[in-house]
Amino acid sequence: MDHFLYKNGALHAEDISLTEIAAAIKTPFYVYSAATLTRHYQLFTEALSPLPHMVCFAIKSLSNVAVLKLLGDLGAGMDVVSGGEYRRARAAGIPGERIVFSGVGKKRDEMRLALTGGIRQFNVESEPELRALSEVASSLDLTAPITIRVNPDVDAKTHTKIATGKSENKFGIPITRAREVYAEAARLPSIEIIGIDVHIGSQLTELTPFEQAYLKIADLTHQLRADGHKIRRLDLGGGLGIPYSRSSKAPPLPVDYGALIKRIVGNLGCEIQIEPGRLISGNAGLLVASVIYIKKGEGRNFLILDAAMNDLIRPSMYDAHHDIVPVIEPTSNFKATVYDVVGPICETGDTFANGRPLAPLTEGDLVAFRSTGAYGAVMASEYNTRPLVPEVLVKKDHFAVIRQRPTFDEILNRDTIPPWL
Ligand SMILES: *Cc1c(COP(=O)(O)O)cnc(C)c1O
Repeated sequence: MDHFLYKNGALHAEDISLTEIAAAIKTPFYVYSAATLTRHYQLFTEALSPLPHMVCFAIKSLSNVAVLKLLGDLGAGMDVVSGGEYRRARAAGIPGERIVFSGVGKKRDEMRLALTGGIRQFNVESEPELRALSEVASSLDLTAPITIRVNPDVDAKTHTKIATGKSENKFGIPITRAREVYAEAARLPSIEIIGIDVHIGSQLTELTPFEQAYLKIADLTHQLRADGHKIRRLDLGGGLGIPYSRSSKAPPLPVDYGALIKRIVGNLGCEIQIEPGRLISGNAGLLVASVIYIKKGEGRNFLILDAAMNDLIRPSMYDAHHDIVPVIEPTSNFKATVYDVVGPICETGDTFANGRPLAPLTEGDLVAFRSTGAYGAVMASEYNTRPLVPEVLVKKDHFAVIRQRPTFDEILNRDTIPPWL
């Protein structure tokens, strides 16, 4: 469910017409609904209650500081995967005790930043990382709270680029070697074992892979406790999928996911932590663009937009489908026109959709890509020297630009010509 609906003939974000935002800041832009973000966060906390739990938003999916502040004020923790994301979480006012540090390639200066700034846990992904963390924490006279991310060798049944829980993926420590690595962690100075971490992939549309992984985590909890480790927190990762198309089968709901967690690991006496990104942010955002031209090709119509693959890369990177809707509500009996929807970038990969039936459009019309709150703005670039796409947050009848579009002066001033040239 989201808060992007037609009212008085125009698509709105909550109580603000997208035509109003477009007039104020020009297209393309992303727009997020505070009500949708709030609701999705709450669905998870409700699904896990009454278990002791923390929902840590995977901020790589949507990392604008204003969005982090909104979720942080609701009590959310944050899952970060870089020193930069750690800084974002802190800039949003999130205390270190609510920040989890994930990722396979944490550098020592990032470890130092998190240890001195405060951290809930490091999700350690390898033995070399474990040793480095022990050294860094010792040198600071601090203790690093850790879980070890185990790779349960489960097929998440999702796009190969975002499956992370098979033994051939780069993530985590093979579950078969977990006891050995926990034993090493227990021997190392300045390391405190808190629990276990697992994350098997993104955009999962079935519960079975989660069930397979969590059963293995439950077994491992018993084994590690028998080995003498204190396992008091289970971080079960993110990855629950969202509906990208109104016509496709809906993925499982957070309430069913929560019931599965309770059934499989609810009786272990552990605090439960999850790291959802996409389900909180995905359907809370739209990318709004204008039609520049409609070009007739050989047997096709190209709808050329002012948004491109640099603004939204998911279609070219993951073959992702995004529903595209006109901002001005079409009449109920419109006759669809079939378009290839493309951006202005000089690559054939700059295609959002092929053969997409849409309400007839003309130059200057506004369109919105649905479900683009997650892995949208965060993956944007300035390829073709197209200014980084701005972001807008709406709450009821308020809207604010939460990331400005840079000026061309700002963009050009980042380059420097060496004096010897
Ligand atoms: C990407 C990622 C997530 C979030 O995945 P979603 O599919 O957006 O829920 C959570 N945890 C880790 C470790 C990740 O890499």
